[in-house]
Amino acid sequence: MDYTSIYNRLYNTNLITGKYCCFMPPKESTICALCHARGRGCCRLAADGPDSMFGLTKAEIKTMAKASGAAPEEFVVADRARAGVIAAAEALHPALARTLNHGRRLRLKVDAGGACHFLGPGGCRLPRRARPLFCRMYPVFVAPQGELTLMGDEACLAQGQAAGPREVLARLGQSEKELRGLHARLLRLSAAHALE
Ligand code: SF4
Ligand code: SF4
Repeated sequence: MDYTSIYNRLYNTNLITGKYCCFMPPKESTICALCHARGRGCCRLAADGPDSMFGLTKAEIKTMAKASGAAPEEFVVADRARAGVIAAAEALHPALARTLNHGRRLRLKVDAGGACHFLGPGGCRLPRRARPLFCRMYPVFVAPQGELTLMGDEACLAQGQAAGPREVLARLGQSEKELRGLHARLLRLSAAHALE
């Protein structure tokens, strides 16, 4: 299974200058600050990008609302995900498909320029602990068989000429243990979300 190509198709990275992924690394690493300063950070997507976004779980929304003091209506859009998006998410990991909850998607609101509602001049305005889990994992994900998988993104500075996902994690100052912990949490939250 070529997860990278699936992901690239999903996010249509050829058409955008800075792809929204809803996923920031868990630390405001220097490399990410530079990426954002260049307008290429992963919290921004093309105007047509929302169509391909994954969903948020209700638990994540609750945490974000509490941390930001904003009502969910201010930063969440409830819409329908296309079947193709659900299939692509399922191919990456069933947990991601569960965030789309049979097409009932709760996604982050983006502005006309594709920037996430929470994106500020210095990056995400949410404290790291309150960010969506996928934001905190990006650009490395854990595949269904457990191996680390890189979400191929030419605009991602952390990925430039990296030998693989572990090198990208090191550049972002993130440990594999932390990443796997976030993944385990995503499994739990998405499973509960899909039942609601
Ligand atoms: S919630 Fe924060 S980390 Fe996630 S896309 Fe929005 S600005 Fe980026
Ligand atoms: S370097 Fe990669 S992970 Fe960091 S902000 Fe840029 S695209 Fe996101």
